Amino acid sequence: MADRIQLLPEHVANQIAAGEVVQRPASVVKELLENAIDAGSDEIQLVVKEGGRSLIQVIDNGIGMSRTDAELSIQRHATSKIRKAEDLFHILTKGFRGEALASIGAIAQLDLNSRTDEESLGTHLKVAGGRIEASEEAVTPKGTSISVKNLFFNIPARRNFLKSAKVEFRHILEEFQRVALAHSDICFSLHHNTNELFHLPVSNPRKRIVHLFGNKMKSRLVPVAEETKVVRIGGFICKPEFAKKSRGEQYFFVNNRFIKSAYLHHAVLNAYEGLLRADTVPGYFLFLEVPPDSIDINIHPTKTEIKFEDEQTLYAILRSAVKHSLGQFNVRPVLDFDSDQNLETPYSFKDREAVIPRVAVDRNFNPFHNSPATTGSGFVSRKHKESSWEVLYEGLQGEENRAGEGKEWIVESGEREETLFEGDTLQSLTEVISFQVDRKYILTRVKTGLLLIDQRRAHQRVLYEKFLKNISGKEAASQALLFPIRPEFNRAEREVLEAMRGPMIAMGFRFAENTGGLHEITALPALIPESEVEKVLDGLIEHWQQHEGLGEYSAGDRLAKLLSQALSLPHGKVLDPFSQQALINDLFACKEAGLSPFNKRIHTTLTVEELENKLR
Ligand code: ADP
Ligand code: MG
Repeated sequence: MADRIQLLPEHVANQIAAGEVVQRPASVVKELLENAIDAGSDEIQLVVKEGGRSLIQVIDNGIGMSRTDAELSIQRHATSKIRKAEDLFHILTKGFRGEALASIGAIAQLDLNSRTDEESLGTHLKVAGGRIEASEEAVTPKGTSISVKNLFFNIPARRNFLKSAKVEFRHILEEFQRVALAHSDICFSLHHNTNELFHLPVSNPRKRIVHLFGNKMKSRLVPVAEETKVVRIGGFICKPEFAKKSRGEQYFFVNNRFIKSAYLHHAVLNAYEGLLRADTVPGYFLFLEVPPDSIDINIHPTKTEIKFEDEQTLYAILRSAVKHSLGQFNVRPVLDFDSDQNLETPYSFKDREAVIPRVAVDRNFNPFHNSPATTGSGFVSRKHKESSWEVLYEGLQGEENRAGEGKEWIVESGEREETLFEGDTLQSLTEVISFQVDRKYILTRVKTGLLLIDQRRAHQRVLYEKFLKNISGKEAASQALLFPIRPEFNRAEREVLEAMRGPMIAMGFRFAENTGGLHEITALPALIPESEVEKVLDGLIEHWQQHEGLGEYSAGDRLAKLLSQALSLPHGKVLDPFSQQALINDLFACKEAGLSPFNKRIHTTLTVEELENKLR
């Protein structure tokens, strides 16, 4: 048989390598920014168009390249950063694989302008599909500017896989933030389309965080500092009460390189033990410095995962450093499970007048009668009986009759006959109606067995329908603020707010006219407590960006969903019997009481049969 193996042509090999290095526009951004940093720049501009699809440009004022260097730089395995294999263990630069420019040049159109300090004329290089199309002298400032246009122009399959400009831009922003956080000694700017989103002056890590994530960060950060033989740890952690449901503001930098490490993340979480609400993750910006020969960076093409020599020791040191900071800065538990629940305002009283659970008494009730509820007599007139929850309670009256000294009762959501406020019976009656299980579920009796309701999902549904009603009503219920609120948002966040403006106004938000933007909030939807507004807006922005999947819904519906999520009762919240009842009432007055706005089941029934089976 004839020999079959051939060496691949250079440009094919580069395209294959590009598959690993360049996954999306954000990967190009990362590589170009890192090259600019390695070139010793102190000012770096990033310009992006259409989420990086049509243009990614990085302009730096670093050492630049000679003509020969420029031509070589786009070859594979061409690097000025290492010479021999041992150098791999003393890496002080971001790059060293010599692959990035070759990979990018293989799958995009690349324009490079560069000039060193010694030269008066620089170089212009034009590359497309891995081939140099032009190389000429050019007048250009000291430093390097690289433009990458039409990413994946020659690989339609990959180009089609790119997400919307918005999504791709979000990834780019993430890379930009990572790099900018690690190098507060460098001035960075970011332009998207025609807007300047960031201009970050040279500063320190703390200020850099504030510039990137907004002034609100100032009060949230707690410094961390620890120095041992194996590692030096610096940076900041966020106070536990600002921990978020979704991940996002968790940053580890090892020798100023952003890395991902589930193991170290665990160490931090571990240190926060007992301080976090369920399912929340604290923010952190932690800088670890270790001897370069104690890590291996070359285990992943994008270099975001690295191997530590002694990970366990690092884990222990990190955990104790974070713990120490939390203790030293007197960050106390936010959750006080032992607090007297009677002192807490039940959720239902926060946003409306108190509703008193009702009892209806059917004095003519006969337990042997087939359909007691329809006999009318003393019974509550049920307005929306078919769709409503009280149908579930039907048939229970007889039993209550036996247990409850000749009185049948029912909790009513609509019309009323008699109130429950009859001295001491109140407490005993409500206690029979429902229990909270694990501070998560409400358990109550229905005619077929036990009804188990997820309190958080139920509350989401209730709020969601109220918000929807708000939008569809002519005038949304708005509460004017005595003192307008000026939330601190950076430009990127404000862009998101701008996108939500229409539905926000429909929902009852009002913004000051004179400022022209969304800088000043003058009124809030009645359902949003003033004290919560910053937290709610924060969550909204965060989720609006993340839940692109909700894009199929109208903007108003999306906003209603997110608000219901942000304001809903958390799991872990103690509910007194009143609140449990109010929630049950509200839930079953909803149009769709079975599913949460996020399509999760709200309640389930454990039938008597099932219970019996369990006890067999
Ligand atoms: P690596 O960064 O791994 O060395 P790259 O393909 O990213 O590989 O870059 C190849 C070489 O091109 C670098 O080693 C560097 O010498 C040069 N280079 C790339 N970008 C710049 C820049 N912005 N300024 C100066 N030199 C650069
Ligand atoms: Mg590089």
